[in-house]
Amino acid sequence: MKKIIVFFSSTLFLIACTNNEQPKQMNKKDSTAMQSEVPQTIDVRFVDNKKDPSCGMPVTAGISDTAHYNNKVFGFCSKECKDNFLKKPEELVAAAELKK
Ligand SMILES: [Zn+2]
Repeated sequence: MKKIIVFFSSTLFLIACTNNEQPKQMNKKDSTAMQSEVPQTIDVRFVDNKKDPSCGMPVTAGISDTAHYNNKVFGFCSKECKDNFLKKPEELVAAAELKK
């Protein structure tokens, strides 16, 4: 659990840094600007795994990175988890709990 909390706080920190130039009050019509540079949470429908194979977190909790392996798209909560998976994908692929 701690890992997840650290991830979220670091993500929030990153978002805070990225949005530095914008005023604090979020404009509702600002959605077009958001789509360009700021990395958005990846839609879990586009990934083939149910769980982040590195940390075991369900992808529904939010993924920020993906990797292709064996013709499947794997979602990860963080770049660290992706890197970890790519070091030994054949070992971790079972933990990903593929949807199909
Ligand atoms: Zn993870």
